[in-house]
Amino acid sequence: MNHQPFETWNLDRTVLSPDQQAEMARHLETCPECRLTAATWDCIQIEMKTAQRVKAPTGFSIRFQNSLVERRRLAHRKQTQKMLGALGISLLVILILLAAYTLTRTSPANWIGSVIRVIADAPFNLLELRFIAAFWLTKIPPLAWIGASIIIAAWMMVFTITGALTYKRFHRQGEILR
Ligand SMILES: [Zn+2]
Repeated sequence: MNHQPFETWNLDRTVLSPDQQAEMARHLETCPECRLTAATWDCIQIEMKTAQRVKAPTGFSIRFQNSLVERRRLAHRKQTQKMLGALGISLLVILILLAAYTLTRTSPANWIGSVIRVIADAPFNLLELRFIAAFWLTKIPPLAWIGASIIIAAWMMVFTITGALTYKRFHRQGEILR
């Protein structure tokens, strides 16, 4: 026997239209199973409404909220670690692939030769870099220096203020929860 839609209607008979209620009553007269469901559900609803409410232990909600913050922080950290781990692993794989590719393309002798060349040339390259840097530093007008300093100082101030405000807000939140 098909008990739908009566099985569903049984769960909340208050929302039924008069037609549906009449249909429901007719079905209940002929169907002992749905009659049992209706009676049981009525009992459960009465039980739920009349059951004595148990009071939570003192400080339960505060402790729950405090631990919620902690648990969220831990979950966030875990997620960050996972992301960084995935990033690190993919970087490592790319590096290994690149190294394998280079090794298959060039002979070890070539490879060692170029490493030695890089090391031997390093002092000269560094000197050259320093000359280039010194050259450009003399080319920059003093006004640009002042402008750059002001921009950097402003950014540092913005970061410091934002950081302080964020810290203050979290600190206050912690005090409210406590
Ligand atoms: Zn039925």
